[in-house]
Amino acid sequence: MQFPELHNFIAGAFSSNGLQRFEVFSPLDGSVISTMPLSTKSDLDVAVDAAQKAFSEWSNTTIKERVQVFFRYKTLLEQNLEELATIVHIENGKTMAEARAEVAKSIELTEFACSMPQLVQGEILEVSKGVECRIERKPVGVVASIAPFNFPHMVPHWTIPNALALGNCMILKPSEMVPISASHIAQMLKEAGLPDGVFNVVNGSRETVEAICDHPGIPAVSFVGSTKVAKIVYQRATSNLKRCTALGGAKNHLIVLPDANPDMTAKDAAASMSGCAGQRCMASSAMVGVGAIDHIIEKLCEEARKIKPGENLGSVISKTAKERIERYITEAEQAGAKVLVDGRNANVPGKEGGFYVGPTVIDYVTPDMAIAKEEVFGPVLSILRAKTLEKAIEIENSSNYGNAAGVYTQSGGLARFVMEHASAGMIGVNIGVPVPREPFSFGGWNESRFGVSDITGKSSIEFWTQLKKTTTKWNPEAGINWMS
Ligand code: NAD
Repeated sequence: MQFPELHNFIAGAFSSNGLQRFEVFSPLDGSVISTMPLSTKSDLDVAVDAAQKAFSEWSNTTIKERVQVFFRYKTLLEQNLEELATIVHIENGKTMAEARAEVAKSIELTEFACSMPQLVQGEILEVSKGVECRIERKPVGVVASIAPFNFPHMVPHWTIPNALALGNCMILKPSEMVPISASHIAQMLKEAGLPDGVFNVVNGSRETVEAICDHPGIPAVSFVGSTKVAKIVYQRATSNLKRCTALGGAKNHLIVLPDANPDMTAKDAAASMSGCAGQRCMASSAMVGVGAIDHIIEKLCEEARKIKPGENLGSVISKTAKERIERYITEAEQAGAKVLVDGRNANVPGKEGGFYVGPTVIDYVTPDMAIAKEEVFGPVLSILRAKTLEKAIEIENSSNYGNAAGVYTQSGGLARFVMEHASAGMIGVNIGVPVPREPFSFGGWNESRFGVSDITGKSSIEFWTQLKKTTTKWNPEAGINWMS
């Protein structure tokens, strides 16, 4: 399938005259499906200028009116779910079922933003006779959102509805690998009645991101991507005195105890490691088996073998990604790990140009191996063995990341121990992908998130607003006291 060439979306119109163009591939079959512009600093300047012009009116529109746009937008998402999911499927390579779930999550995120008037009412108190203090939440200004490739529709919705409903204007920089969804988001927000300039899309890669971090007209930067780039963006944005939340990569551990329900554990672990071809920051990519769990591993391998590339398993994003994932498997094998289910050299008839890796389960991985420590970002599950739960927690705690951790057990006490001691921001008990749903916020710990607030839910309100504190006195008879 071919898509029209892409443009930036600035002040309510698509344009990108004269910019250098970058080819966009579908990882499903390796074909070129569009081209997108590589924006420079001066293109960003134009977008920030448009957003600043729109800010005054948008931020002075009442919040109840602002959320009306998102009620209409949510309906448009629902009406166009199939088309939007198809775009995600083609540009990212995930299955249609996964793409539909991704758009459904965007709808849930939009629904949350519609509840903002109920959540940001401010505070007021008569602090001394006739004198009142009030606190209101005000938008920050023109904010930026930088997105990764793995959720082209959902990750932008982690930021767009909340930031805009709270009165900010935004520049979105989508991943250059999956820029098509962003154009449709822009078009649909306009259709929902969002005023021109409130939401802008500036396409590009590293140079565009650096320009965002340096731009004096952008006081807040939200980033989602790898830890390597999250560190660069966080350091650069904050050294330019901006507020920044930068979500990074992950290595999520699933601790499995011998009393775990074998069927549920096997099914959930296989789905967690392989969903979205393992390209999820919430994927459980390392299982830590405590004691005698061979009966569970056997079932897990049976489940993994039911996952077929090109059928219920999508492609990975690129040839480079496929080669990197297969290299991790081979190096682990050479270092003594045992490949129980091997997804290397996957071939999907009719899609020979696509980038597929089959489900892979590797046992007897040791904590010193690269596959145990680093983010593989493919449909690969490493199994590490631990004699005790304390040892399993030690392995989990030694990771630099801290996005998610999980435990499978039927014992409340042992589950509680993992809840207490795992060093991660999102914990699952008998849940393979413990993504908190709205209104609960999303965000990891350690090198999976830099900055203080989470990216969604109530926590994001802190990030997208600043507090205005006003003290008033209207009645002269209140007199003067020490704080008048
Ligand atoms: P990435 O870090 O390569 O790219 C993310 C964004 O940064 C893109 O928009 C890209 O254009 C830009 N970028 C790339 N290199 C840059 C550089 N040197 N300087 C400035 N900007 C640069 O990430 P990706 O490969 O697109 O996405 C996958 C990664 O994102 C994985 O590590 C995954 O775990 C992570 N991720 C994390 C979460 C989370 O919630 N923690 C969610 C989704 C994805």
